[in-house]
Amino acid sequence: MGFTVIVPPPTSKRTLSLGVQNAPEFACLPLKINLGNFMEARELGADTIIMAGGVGPCRFGLYAQLEKEILEDLGCHYEILVLEPPERGIIDFFKKIRKLTEKVSWWRIIQGVRLGYKKACFVDKLEILVQEIRPRENELGTADKIFAHSLKTIDKANNLDELAEAYGLAKEKLLHIPRNEEKEVLKIGLVGEIYTLLEPFASQDIEKRLGYLGAQVTRSLYLSEWINEHLFGGLLSGAVRQGFSKHAGPFLNHFVGGHARESIGAGVLLAGEGFDGIVQVAPLTCMPEIVAHSIFPSVSDTLDIPVLTIYVDELSGQEGIHTRLEAFIDLLWGKRFSLDHEKTIC
Ligand code: SF4
Repeated sequence: MGFTVIVPPPTSKRTLSLGVQNAPEFACLPLKINLGNFMEARELGADTIIMAGGVGPCRFGLYAQLEKEILEDLGCHYEILVLEPPERGIIDFFKKIRKLTEKVSWWRIIQGVRLGYKKACFVDKLEILVQEIRPRENELGTADKIFAHSLKTIDKANNLDELAEAYGLAKEKLLHIPRNEEKEVLKIGLVGEIYTLLEPFASQDIEKRLGYLGAQVTRSLYLSEWINEHLFGGLLSGAVRQGFSKHAGPFLNHFVGGHARESIGAGVLLAGEGFDGIVQVAPLTCMPEIVAHSIFPSVSDTLDIPVLTIYVDELSGQEGIHTRLEAFIDLLWGKRFSLDHEKTIC
């Protein structure tokens, strides 16, 4: 669309430290990290932020306003455009984008949005493939290296043809990774708050760790699904579509903010599909996931599926998280072997 896009450096300890120093102590981790991202982008010359907004009882709906005030106090003057979930559908979304792109033709705007959305869809498809390969690859980390490279080539793609080529090449490389298809792996549902699920730094690489520990992970949320549902009212094609929230009843029948219904719904559905366990990850003080956490014991008892909940904040240590994941994996193997043993005796 003709913007100069300034991408802040990948989230690091410095990013988190900038956020922690300047955010309210009890703000949730994503706000602190985002604040650090904005401060680092400012150092690189960014002057406008486009970010998503939210509605409902969780704090995400106030992020943009709060972050703007903190940034102003710090002398970082930003213009912020908030893309709230559409009240009037897709037209509302394009009207907001229009405010920033007065001199750009509608054709270019639509092409730009389409390209960005398609990039998210292709990245999600590759991530799902990586989740399948991780526990089975002969050399741990091969799929992640290819995926990291593919993110760069997808980022560079300037049109749909280049994008399709980058995606096709990445997929081909991933499918050729030497791996043991016969290997027995655990199946784990990774559920929780969206930011900690999508940003590996925030969750201390929980998804990758589970894969390397021999578990095939299915996540309850993917970025393309969120973009389609929340910004385009579910009208676009190509996104990962799981619709877990529909399965949350009777355990959780109401919207309580964030993605609690997706977390519970994924737990219910994946238990029914024979998954070995559920790992829930959330920022400390995340209200919707605290609600889900309090409901998971009944899901676990009713559907006989073990659930591990991990809260993360700026004080989380990777060794502590890794040890808990290892112990959980051991328990799941124990449960699976005892079930197999019972079947043999019967
Ligand atoms: S979902 Fe949780 S972490 Fe995300 S903004 Fe809401 S309260 Fe904070």
